[in-house]
Amino acid sequence: MNSLFPKRTRFAIITLTFALLLAPLSSAVAQQKKNTETPLPSVGSPINAIIDLSSSVLNSAAGYVDVDPYSQFRDARYSNEGLLSERDEMKLGNEVHKEVGKKFKLTTVGQPRANRIGQRAARASQRANITYQFHVVQDKEINAFATPGGHIYVTTGLMNMANDDELASVLAHEVGHVVARHSLKTMQQSQMLGGLVDLVGSVTGIAGNTAKEMGTLAAQVVGSGLLATHNREEEREADFLGVRTMSKAGFKTEGMVTMFQKIQRISNTNRDLLGAIFADHPDVDERIENTRYEIKRMRGRR
Ligand SMILES: [Zn+2]
Repeated sequence: MNSLFPKRTRFAIITLTFALLLAPLSSAVAQQKKNTETPLPSVGSPINAIIDLSSSVLNSAAGYVDVDPYSQFRDARYSNEGLLSERDEMKLGNEVHKEVGKKFKLTTVGQPRANRIGQRAARASQRANITYQFHVVQDKEINAFATPGGHIYVTTGLMNMANDDELASVLAHEVGHVVARHSLKTMQQSQMLGGLVDLVGSVTGIAGNTAKEMGTLAAQVVGSGLLATHNREEEREADFLGVRTMSKAGFKTEGMVTMFQKIQRISNTNRDLLGAIFADHPDVDERIENTRYEIKRMRGRR
């Protein structure tokens, strides 16, 4: 089915969606770097007093300062407020899924594995009430992405290079995007959501012209690559939600670290497999650092 669509379009979608795995350097991380590289002011100085008061900063026994890269996500509560209703989000997801099925070659190979691991992660997530569906895309590129309504896609290329805990890290990260409604928010910002809300919300069933219009819009959504374009903040949030979900679901959280390490190695040897966007996000180091921070923090509190 891929051959029906220009390779360039497909490539754009794939590379854009790639943000999920290989994205973002956050301002907090930049801050962390800055803090660790800058000598601390002497005890008693006003700056030090400010650091001590900040809840996001922990002084470790070793004497260095860890900045919590996830401080702004810890108390986050997620809902569909201000967005599409959950029911309509599900409908939208199904429409978008039809379009994804036209643009990508879906396969049943490995699907039971993706589903088994993905469902386990989804059940442990902060949005376990909806139905998730895990799909496998036949493609050697290493990629995964999520659409609204709990449809999550992973390529055979990624499946083949990941052990179960590593695959869990990717799927839990994608579930994190669904939990935080990132795609819906992106669509809203791009003003694509308005038309879809009207269409989805105005009918109880989808039929006739509405269905056709819906399909056209859903195709635009998929074609634009918007669904997979997450900013760095959203990637960081999905990492955070993902590693915590992994822990709750009983996966080895270290799998997220080793997944990033594998991506890092591939980026040195076989960069093509990772898509061009990887060149813009040389920040896997920071994501590893952040993940380790969270693992340590979760262990400390058990
Ligand atoms: Zn992501």
